[in-house]
Amino acid sequence: MPEGQVSHRNAIVLTRAIAGSPLVRVEVTEPRLAPQRIDERLMGDVLEHMEARGKHHLFRFRSGRVLHSHLRMGGVWRTYAADADIPQRGLWLALGTTEAVVAQYRGPDLALLEPGEPMPRIDALGPDLLADDADPAAIGLRLLAIEPTRPVGDAVMDQRVMSGIGNVYKSETLFLAGVDPWRQVGSLTREEAESIGVIGSELLATGVRDRGRIRTYRPPLGTARPGERTWVYGRRGRPCRRCGAPVRSCGQGDANRTTYWCPGCQE
Ligand SMILES: [Zn+2]
Repeated sequence: MPEGQVSHRNAIVLTRAIAGSPLVRVEVTEPRLAPQRIDERLMGDVLEHMEARGKHHLFRFRSGRVLHSHLRMGGVWRTYAADADIPQRGLWLALGTTEAVVAQYRGPDLALLEPGEPMPRIDALGPDLLADDADPAAIGLRLLAIEPTRPVGDAVMDQRVMSGIGNVYKSETLFLAGVDPWRQVGSLTREEAESIGVIGSELLATGVRDRGRIRTYRPPLGTARPGERTWVYGRRGRPCRRCGAPVRSCGQGDANRTTYWCPGCQE
């Protein structure tokens, strides 16, 4: 799942792949992108760096143009050698230098902005739990400053409150913080709010180090079985790894995203 760990991993990998050299290849294969004329506008331009802001990708070019990408549930960026035969299935856009090609698959959210063009969705983002200067405890405290009746599991996914946490890290963070996702944010203690920020930030950072893969649970040595990667996410009805109670799940929030939790460990 592309949450903040993927955008921040991509910021490292995609910048390393194509920054600093002129684009010699800009291939637009998705018909919905055609009206933006991305190929004409970007050919010859030079990527300065790709910046992650929460789950958003901002490719900043020397011309001042910004390519904005959001992967939603199923988009992906991949990197290839310049002379590689890149897979065409699902391809939306490929950007290549003489060194490497980065390719975007399955969109679904890709826009090339002119220099200085407003970015209202970016401006509205809350602080990024993975920013270099982030103070995760202080970011967690922002939960105490919003509408107090909002359920915690909904609020931590609100990118205006804090950015980076998506559906998997939501369930995992609240499990490790011991907080029931159905509680109202107004009932959180300062310590609980801070620990949500700190744990969320640590889990996301681990995901960046794990090359964008989500692995929040690490089984004791010698007991690993395939697919065991989470404490509660995706484990509906199975025994909690700590207390043995069956893990529960239910849709939550406006988008009805499934939240997993342990009724024994989370209060
Ligand atoms: Zn439990």
